[in-house]
Amino acid sequence: MRTVDIVIVGASLSAAAAAKRLVDAGLETIVLERKELPRHKICSGILSPRGHRFLLENFGPLPREALHEPTSCRGVTFHFPSMVSMPMDFFGGPTPHLHRKYSDYWAIKRSGAEVHDRTSFAGLEDRGDHVLVQARRQGEPVEYRARQVIGADGPSSLVIRAIYPDYPQQIPWFFVGQKFHDIVDCPLDPDYFHFWFHPGLGHYTWSHARDGRQIVGVGFKRGDNFARKHENVVNYLADKHGVRLQPHTEDEGCAENFGPSLINRYVFGKGNVLITGQAAGFLNMIGEGMSCALHSGAICGEAVVEARARNRPLQEMYRRMIASEVRRTSDQWNPLKIAFERPHEADFPAALMALGWRDRGKVLRDLWRFIVLYKEFNWGRQMAAIAMQRPLIGGYSMRRWL
Ligand SMILES: Cc1cc2nc3c(=O)[nH]c(=O)nc-3n(C[C@H](O)[C@H](O)[C@H](O)COP(=O)(O)OP(=O)(O)OC[C@H]3O[C@@H](n4cnc5c(N)ncnc54)[C@H](O)[C@@H]3O)c2cc1C
Repeated sequence: MRTVDIVIVGASLSAAAAAKRLVDAGLETIVLERKELPRHKICSGILSPRGHRFLLENFGPLPREALHEPTSCRGVTFHFPSMVSMPMDFFGGPTPHLHRKYSDYWAIKRSGAEVHDRTSFAGLEDRGDHVLVQARRQGEPVEYRARQVIGADGPSSLVIRAIYPDYPQQIPWFFVGQKFHDIVDCPLDPDYFHFWFHPGLGHYTWSHARDGRQIVGVGFKRGDNFARKHENVVNYLADKHGVRLQPHTEDEGCAENFGPSLINRYVFGKGNVLITGQAAGFLNMIGEGMSCALHSGAICGEAVVEARARNRPLQEMYRRMIASEVRRTSDQWNPLKIAFERPHEADFPAALMALGWRDRGKVLRDLWRFIVLYKEFNWGRQMAAIAMQRPLIGGYSMRRWL
């Protein structure tokens, strides 16, 4: 059995950020990754300016292989059922279009942590002064002993299930799937990520250009039919936007824990186990999760270092330090914040004001219909949280720390 200071589960961006803080503080850190590295990760790869700054400041300039074509993205275009489209540039200019297979591998290597790939976390036992971690490497059982464990293992986190077995039943689950098409004719601007606020298409509908093909993606509550939903979007894009695509050549999808950051049901862990990144619930509106994965991961690593240095309770330290990231992420879902402030990194209020008053009215009406239709997004509760000026935390409460 290997004994180390920290075991991190998952070798993605939140893990790389946490590992960087831990290694920099001199803590022996092992990262477990179930897949062989570099590994594929389903993602559009559109990085927010804040995520880009984090990568530059912590890991340096990105290598070319960590980018798709087009290599950058200018911003996001929102499309509405009334056929008004609103392009919004990112603050500070275009950001890199990440190829997650290589960007994540680059970041985890630059963290300086020891990485054990093809090693799946299977379970843990928190014994108070240390944690025993059970894993499987290419089918064979392996064990680690660590002072602390960080679950950075994404939306379907097994680390969360190990400490809260009923958690998957507590939140709504979504499916997101995307198909890759060769292009016949595509008038959608390839420099932007395109997103539709259209209740007739799905909870989450997007399209963008990548490596000479067009991605068409759709997200919906688990249980619906991917092929039918996708076909509906392809037909809509053809009818309304003149997008003509070949039948898809490739497709992929996964389960997503959309919504914990909307309704403030974050999970931060217990005892010697901390949860971070999307596993903890960090995901911004329109599915941007890399910047909050990086920042929450770094905060998680810092919390471990601080708790050790000051001999303070780990969970308390993490909850105190993570509060700013919770507020930032939750604000991104708040319609009032979106309308009157700038919680996102592209200027929605300015883009709205650039429209004529008639189109502005259409956009606000379409947004309202979208919000009202998707009751599971629980907007009322979110508004209440903002009115109270503090996050409402659900079953896995951080309330007593705020
Ligand atoms: C279709 C789609 C498009 C997206 N587009 C964007 C976008 O354009 N911009 C953006 O910012 N975000 C996007 N996101 C969200 C973004 O991908 C995630 O929020 C982000 O990757 C979360 O990072 P993470 O480090 O928390 O976890 P993840 O990236 O999910 O990584 C978890 C890691 O843990 C590993 N793992 C899981 N279980 C185990 C186990 N048992 N043992 C060992 N290892 C394990 C996984 O293999 C993986 O490497 C998109 C997501 C999807 C699904």
